[in-house]
Parts: sequence; structure tokens; C-alpha cells
Amino acid sequence: MPDLQYLLKTHFGHSRFRPLQSEIIEQILNGNDALVLMPTGGGKSICYQLPSMVFRGITVVISPLISLMKDQVDSALSNGIPAAFLNSSLTPEQSRRIESQLRADEIKLLYCAPERFALPHFRDFLKSLPINLFAVDEAHCISEWGHDFRADYRSLHLLKKEFSSVPIIALTATATGQVADDIAEQLGMPQVRRFVSSFNRQNLTYRVERKVNAFNKLVNWIEKFKGESAIVYCFSKKETDGVANKLCRLGYSARPYHAGMKAEERTKNQNDFINDKVDIIVATIAFGMGIDKPDVRLVVHYSLPKTIEGYFQETGRAGRDGLESECVLFYGAGDQFNQKFFIEQIEDELQKEKRYEQLNQMVGYCELKKCRRKQLLNYFGENFDQSSCEACDVCLKTENTFNAAEVSQKILKAIAETGGRFGAGHIINILLGSNQKRIRELRHNELNSYGSEVDHNKDALNQIIANLIEGKYIKRETGMYPTLSLTEKGAQLMNSIRAGEPYEIQMDEPEIEVEHEIQARPEKIKMKKISKSGQKSNLEYNQNLFEEFRILRRSLAEKHNVPPYVVASDKTLIELAHYLPQNTEELLNINGFGEVKAERYGKPFLEMIKATS
Ligand code: ADP
Ligand code: MG
Ligand code: ZN
Repeated sequence: MPDLQYLLKTHFGHSRFRPLQSEIIEQILNGNDALVLMPTGGGKSICYQLPSMVFRGITVVISPLISLMKDQVDSALSNGIPAAFLNSSLTPEQSRRIESQLRADEIKLLYCAPERFALPHFRDFLKSLPINLFAVDEAHCISEWGHDFRADYRSLHLLKKEFSSVPIIALTATATGQVADDIAEQLGMPQVRRFVSSFNRQNLTYRVERKVNAFNKLVNWIEKFKGESAIVYCFSKKETDGVANKLCRLGYSARPYHAGMKAEERTKNQNDFINDKVDIIVATIAFGMGIDKPDVRLVVHYSLPKTIEGYFQETGRAGRDGLESECVLFYGAGDQFNQKFFIEQIEDELQKEKRYEQLNQMVGYCELKKCRRKQLLNYFGENFDQSSCEACDVCLKTENTFNAAEVSQKILKAIAETGGRFGAGHIINILLGSNQKRIRELRHNELNSYGSEVDHNKDALNQIIANLIEGKYIKRETGMYPTLSLTEKGAQLMNSIRAGEPYEIQMDEPEIEVEHEIQARPEKIKMKKISKSGQKSNLEYNQNLFEEFRILRRSLAEKHNVPPYVVASDKTLIELAHYLPQNTEELLNINGFGEVKAERYGKPFLEMIKATS
């Protein structure tokens, strides 16, 4: 076995393998297949890029997005790996040049898209080359069970048929067993050894916030990460455009990204984001797959995601570099009904049922006041035993509580008086003494509870009801008719109230929608302490120098026509600002600086350090 540790250091600038990386690499170097399930940011690329340097022949990477291949190749080149891509963006001459370089043994790592692999003449060309490994990146795209199935990936079943002696490494960040089984099956390697790493992303903080004053809350978060990269996921094109416009009007650098836009404009927005020319992308879920930008500090779900898998993938795009990052989801009951409306249009009953189940799981995640990390990991079949993760809204809980005994009693009473046959909206109308026709028709204006509530408005009552559901005093039917009824516990409480026993129900103070959205960029916003450490890294570093490094990184990136993260990640810049290396030898000790990178980009950083000390 070659010295893997040495290759890791000299090419990638890392001193240690992450869990499973070296096992996977050994499996590959021994000529075996592998199926790798590792979360986004886990470090999958090294699992095929490092072997590509050891093999005598060529490693072919099948990757789904043509628009991102240049970045992937630039990144490999900057780590000293002779790499290239072949796709439809090249001119015939460019393609021919790369083909002859491949024949001349000058390229070790070749990227191509599945639609190219599907072409017989391209496969014939590959057969004429000495290929040692196929890497199928984003392998879940082959599965219809996954969340972004691509028909072109299906042609990859030909890998084992036509290149039977070449091992395959398939990689994905999708954690469900069903998708993994499907990948193995479709690629014709049912017995393939699987490498499953933990899906716990320790540097991510997960939060669910009430979708009340959502835009103002969004601005607070954006403000917290001013000048850094953020992705805001929305439900519809309309919402996407709306949020992006409002952010722009406040002076933030934000752009939309959705299927309704012209392809060029979309690509431009994506590139501007990757190149740090735009801070915020507001997108439908179409955005982000395959984007390796490591320094996204904030991912916001402005509306309820459709599935937990999708949510986990999308939040996974934050903090690939391992630095502290935030994932915030705004949850309001209204979003559920939006989704139900669409689900109801589905004709296939099975599909419809599946979508309802996914929606319920998503709602359950938001409503349960249980550690978010534990919920997510359990969903993917992984245990999480710590009593607190210290990085989710539930474990960091700081909200104000109040004694909701009186209002709860009124709510329970209204539900009991109407026989548990009505939804929250109707119960609230009764409590607030609404003059609605339906109320009068049902003669609910004659109930004892009618108009009995004066301290809370509709928003607040909705939240209190959600808390009572969570506290298991009342139960809400799932499906189309979410009627409320008392549970055993709720009925008992009513009895003890009637018997005149003292009682108390502590719950979160409700939040009320304000009339106005933020109209001007706020001067300074007070924030709750945002994470366990309150800083991105546990290294102390000179913040000003760090900012200067970021500027330098951008100008180097522009000069070399590569994305800034290919020059250095934020994590690398923080280490530079902490250790202040004085020469190339010391520079090579910094995480992320391999030999090629140090030679190509190191000097200006060293000069800047000299100039400031
Ligand atoms: P994935 O494809 O699994 O999402 P990447 O391969 O893009 O992840 O790697 C994510 C980040 O982790 C990159 O910035 C990479 O440099 C870094 N990384 C990978 N392996 C290591 C390692 N052994 N030590 C330190 N950083 C690593
Ligand atoms: Mg990857
Ligand atoms: Zn937690």
C-alpha cells in the first residue's frame, strides 16, 4: 500500500483522514467496489481523488451537473491532480485536445456527465483508455426513491456490463437504506461493501422558529451573517422572487434562483454566489446540488420543506468546511395547508398517501419539542444518546414561558362543548366571539365559551393550541380534516378544574405578528447568543487579518479564474490568521495547503503576514 497519509498531506494539505476515508481508499486500491454513504461535507471527493493519484491509469467521475464540472476540475488541479472534463460546453477542438491528452496519459481524473456516458461512441472511446476506476458521484440520482432522480443516471447500469473489470465507487449523502439498496441494485453490484458514516453534522445548529414576523426574523439572521454566504429556500417561485426582492430593497446582495427563470440568468446567479459576488441566494429546492461551496454559513427554510430527506440535504449545504453554521426553519401552520392543497391534486392514490406521510413526518419534526438533531438522526436510523446536543433550539432553549392555565381551560371547554368535531380555526372563532355565518348557523354563538377570550388574538391562540397538542391535552386528527378533541389527559384536567383544584400549565409565550415588515436595513440588531461557542471556530484569530485574507483570496481567484474556495476555504484562512506562518514550510502545516496550492497561491499570503507583523 502506498503512503496514504503522505499523499493526503502533500496533495490536499490535510494531516488526518476523517472516519472511514482511509478504509474506503484501501478498498478501492485493492480493486474492489464500494458504496459510500456520507453526509454532505463529510469528505467524499478524497475517496476517489486520492486513489486516482495512485492508479497507473485513469479515474472517470460521473457527476450530474455540467455547470459545476469546471469548479470540480479547478479544485482537483489546485491539489495537483491532472484533471479535465468532457462535456457539451467545450468546443470540438477543446474536446479533441483533452482526448489526446487522455491517450497520452497526461490526465488522471476525468469528469463527465451521465448523458455523455449514455452515448455508445463515448463508451467506445472510454474502452480504448486504461481505466482503473469509475466514481459515481451523487449516486442517489439513479434511484426513483431519492429526491432528485435523473433518468440519465439509469444508463450507468452499463458500467458493470461493458466495463466488468473496472471497480466502481458510488457516493451519496442520502442516508436512507431504501435508496442505498436501489443504488447497489441499479449499478449491478448487489453485494457491494457499504461504508456508512455518521450523519451527525456537529457544526450545524438546527432551529425551528415560528413563522410569525418571518421576514423580520429572516433579516435578523441575514444581518448576523452579513457579508457571508447564505441560502434561503422557499416554497414557490413567487415566494422566491418576493423574498429576494425585499432583501434587495433593504440593500442586501440577494438573487433568486428557480425553474421559471431563463437558464443564463440562473447560471449567472449561481456563479455569482459561488464566486462570492453575491451573498444570498433565495431559491426553490432546485438549487444547491453539487455545489461544493464550503463556507455557506446560514441555510434558512422560509417555508416548510416537503420531506425530511430533502430538508437534511438542503441544510447539509451549510458549513461543509466544518465551521459553525446555522440552519433555521420557519414553521407556521399555514404552510401545511398549502402543501395539502397540492397533495390533493395528485391522482395516484399510493403517491398521494406517501406524500401525506412525508408531510406528517415533517410537521412532526417541527411540532415536537424534542432535540432536533436526535429526531433527524433517528429518522435516518442512527442513535443519538446525549441528553442535550447543545446545538438546536430545543437544547438551547431560552424562550419565555407563562402560565397558560386560564386560556387553556377556555380552549378545552370550547372543544368539549362542540363535541370534538371542529378544527382550530373554528374553535378560535368561537372563543373570540366571531360574527361568522357558520358560527350562527351552528348556533355556536349561544355557547358558554362564545367570546370568552379577551387576552389573546388568533395568532396567539393558534400557538397555544399547538402547545396543548404537544402537551397531549388535545389531539389533532391528521389528514384533510384536522379536528381537535380532548385526550384522556385533557379530560382529566377539565375534571380537576371543575372540582376546583389548583393547576398550572407552563408554556412558551406566544409571538404575535407585527403590522410592519422591516423597511430599512436595521442599524444593529440584538441577537440571542447564536450557538454554543458564539464563534465560528475555537481558534483565536485576528479578525481584521482574516478579512484582508478574504479580499486577497477573491483577487487571486479572479486572477486565476477559479472560485475563491478553490484558493482557500474560510477554515484555512482562520488557521492562517491564527498561526501566522512565516515561510513555505510553515505554510504547508496549515490545513488545506498542499504542495501545489502553496506554490500557486502561497506567496501573497506570506507577504501579507510579513507586512502586518
Ligand atoms: P462531500 O463531497 O462529502 O460533500 P467534500 O469532498 O466536498 O465533501 O469535502 C468537504 C470538505 O471537507 C472540503 O472542504 C474538504 O477539503 C474537507 N475535507 C475532506 N477530507 C478532509 C480531511 N481528512 N481533513 C480535513 N478536511 C477534509
Ligand atoms: Mg461531493
Ligand atoms: Zn438538540
